[in-house]
Amino acid sequence: VPLVAVVEDDPKVRAAVERALGASGYSVCSAATGLDGLSRIVDERPDVVVIDLGLPDIDGLELLKMVRAVSTVPVIVATARDNDEDIVRTLDAGADDYIVKPFSTAQLDARIRAVLRRTQPAGHDGTVVVGQLKVDPAARTATLDDQVLQLSRKEFDLLFHLVANQGRVVTKRELLAEVWQQPYGGGDKTVDVHLSWLRRKLGETAAEPRYLQTVRGVGVRFVEPD
Ligand code: CA
Repeated sequence: VPLVAVVEDDPKVRAAVERALGASGYSVCSAATGLDGLSRIVDERPDVVVIDLGLPDIDGLELLKMVRAVSTVPVIVATARDNDEDIVRTLDAGADDYIVKPFSTAQLDARIRAVLRRTQPAGHDGTVVVGQLKVDPAARTATLDDQVLQLSRKEFDLLFHLVANQGRVVTKRELLAEVWQQPYGGGDKTVDVHLSWLRRKLGETAAEPRYLQTVRGVGVRFVEPD
């Protein structure tokens, strides 16, 4: 049973989240402060961590950085700050995903399932399967509905990075750093253009996405289509 650690100072929200996650079959440990949360995360080694950004002792973003210094555990940040700048900063600080308060427990449950699915290892040959899409990093090939996709080197790298991080919002800055080796940013347009090419090859459009969901002002999320 996956263990979820919840760091949330509001007792009502904490109790509701504990109850809902318990009903969904998770084990839950929780903390009301950032420092208590940090020691629980270190001691109990949860499979997923949910951090509220507004904590009484330390800022949730600081807690996230402390967790990242010691662990690669998936972290979902719960935030009342619904603006692009804060969300981008949170993702760049190492959050795997974020959820805007107030959120439904069904939504939180879906995010947790997505990060858990992503942390499960790929097949032994490294091939990743998402819906009808198969991506083989060793052969550097991808097929959709058993048809080989004709991808440029960069398109393949972009697709593989997105697939390997499925369910998570990936920022353009991260794509520039990981796919183009430009950690200091610059070519947002480059990313946009390659995303639109990739989208066309996956047989979808920005208006009618299937695999590639645009998260406006933030980046893109690769998902399994319904
Ligand atoms: Ca709070």
